[in-house]
Amino acid sequence: MKLGWDLKKGLNWFLTAWKNWDDPSPGDFTRSTLHTNNPEEVMWKGTTQYYRSGPWDGIGFSGIPSVSSDSNTNYTIVSNKDEFYITYSLIDKSLISRVVMNQTRYARQRLAWNIDSQTWRVSSELPTDFCDQYNICGAFGICVIGQAPACKCLDGFKPKSPRNWTQMSWNQGCVHNQTWSCRKKGRDGFNKFSNVKVPDTRRSWVNANMTLDECKNKCWENCSCTAYANSDIKGGGSGCAIWFSDLLDIRLMPNAGQDLYIRLAMSETEIITGIEGKNNKSQQEDFELPLFDLASIAHATNNFSNDNKLGEGGFGPVYKGILPYGQEVAVKRLSETSRQGLKEFKNEVMLCAELQHRNLVKVLGCCIQDDEKLLIYEYMANKSLDVFLFDSSQGKLLDWPKRFCIINGIARGLLYLHQDSRLRIIHRDLKASNVLLDNEMNPKISDFGLARMCGGDQIEGKTSRVVGTYGYMAPEYAFDGIFSIKSDVFSFGVLLLEIVSGKKNRLFSPNDYNNLIGHAWRLSKEGKPMQFIDTSLKDSYNLHEALRCIHIGLLCVQHHPNDRPNMASVVVSLSNENALPLPKNPSYQLNDIPTERESSSNTSLSVNDVTTSMLSGR
Ligand code: AMP
Repeated sequence: MKLGWDLKKGLNWFLTAWKNWDDPSPGDFTRSTLHTNNPEEVMWKGTTQYYRSGPWDGIGFSGIPSVSSDSNTNYTIVSNKDEFYITYSLIDKSLISRVVMNQTRYARQRLAWNIDSQTWRVSSELPTDFCDQYNICGAFGICVIGQAPACKCLDGFKPKSPRNWTQMSWNQGCVHNQTWSCRKKGRDGFNKFSNVKVPDTRRSWVNANMTLDECKNKCWENCSCTAYANSDIKGGGSGCAIWFSDLLDIRLMPNAGQDLYIRLAMSETEIITGIEGKNNKSQQEDFELPLFDLASIAHATNNFSNDNKLGEGGFGPVYKGILPYGQEVAVKRLSETSRQGLKEFKNEVMLCAELQHRNLVKVLGCCIQDDEKLLIYEYMANKSLDVFLFDSSQGKLLDWPKRFCIINGIARGLLYLHQDSRLRIIHRDLKASNVLLDNEMNPKISDFGLARMCGGDQIEGKTSRVVGTYGYMAPEYAFDGIFSIKSDVFSFGVLLLEIVSGKKNRLFSPNDYNNLIGHAWRLSKEGKPMQFIDTSLKDSYNLHEALRCIHIGLLCVQHHPNDRPNMASVVVSLSNENALPLPKNPSYQLNDIPTERESSSNTSLSVNDVTTSMLSGR
């Protein structure tokens, strides 16, 4: 089968869908081949372009990762003075396959004959997903499946109409953040975007014999050139494709696609490539999350209805929402009376944009409109850890293997914050209600409103405004306002003891010791640590692991920060058999908050688990 052009007769070979299953007259879905020197297949719905495959990149079509030279289909592009077409043959000739155009959303289907069942089986369909819709994000936009909203402007570009963009009307696309001056040395440059389906090739040019450097120079010389890439990605890449004017229909192709180099003003290329070394404040404030429109979030949450309410933290209620294409989200609505001001909100937005780890809750975007400040998170189906841990019936759902996975996940998330992320982050409010659980009970640390960023070598800070949650606060922080990664380690130790015992540190009040830490310390000293383990775990627990967790917990809550381990050694100790040091006396007298501080703060001092702040008397 040939899809393309008989140049002598001026004929175009293309496929047309039937009007419907019973009516073979032409429908309006068609599929044809573009006659350019960088050809690609396109689909139309009437006169509107519906889809394009992306050009052949030497291995497959740039926008169809499944079509590669090692699949069962051999594609050939024939171009001579008489004909220009794309054709294919099957490598395994014993297989029977056909391609069909349908008058449906999945306009192009490949069907394979199943000999056993004597039926046709759909082996692939196009378009495959939301981002396959032609040019859905407009010029200089990029579509990312799994992100909400799916469209964003390429780095270095901003929405042409911010208002329309926030209303998810993306067709006007994006424009340069800054104008660039053609070929002025030091004034324009190129940025590399990896794993993309390259833009529409109608306004492009190809030379198969050039190197990438020659390609860059070719683009540099032409003031209309907006991007360049290798035309063939086999064996490290060769050839040159350059694009002119607007770049249309780019999408991210995880684990596929290719590198595209886009022309930008030099200051933009510096910002983007400079992210690795980003540590100055003004640059951090430039970092933005996708902006959502208030109307669309109100719609998604059923107008912030009570039925959609998932919970309420110190900063306001959290609602479940469903975005237009079905993605579930959680929306934190900063209440007017909330203690999280604009500063804390921006802090959370900025940190969340930067932090990415499987044990940190992902923030998808934010909304600051009218008097509303909203944060949009990935939805965590099992809400927060405290819901399970401190409820006698729900607690039974958390057997020991799950609890141990949760402990390990929290430890890895905190290690990332302290050590592995580009920013050194001190969370300052780690507690059971700030650990969210996804549908498989994987833990993710949330709530970065109080988190603080430290410079590369800085390991502690001091504040006159002590914020956090009693029961989890390290003594040097509660009494002197000194926070450090070791004050987070203290909170982790408390959480660890709570997970093993199923009891809240703050509310625990056995006769002679006033909290859970003291109880764990006493039982361990008396050689009875087993009595500390949650009785609802019955036989599900691994005694060795549980005792080791109590030991690590007690090491983390030691009075002096220097005695506490860092998170790297906690992570190692949790999974190793290495000998652990003996813990020193813990800080279980923490509830004895000094009187003058009590009098300087409000009545919320006697509270339980709500994040609170108090002004120190300094
Ligand atoms: P926070 O203000 O972050 O402490 O959240 C308050 C409560 O809302 C939590 O304890 C959870 O029960 C719920 N919640 C917060 N974020 C999410 C989320 N991403 N998915 C599901 N529930 C959430």
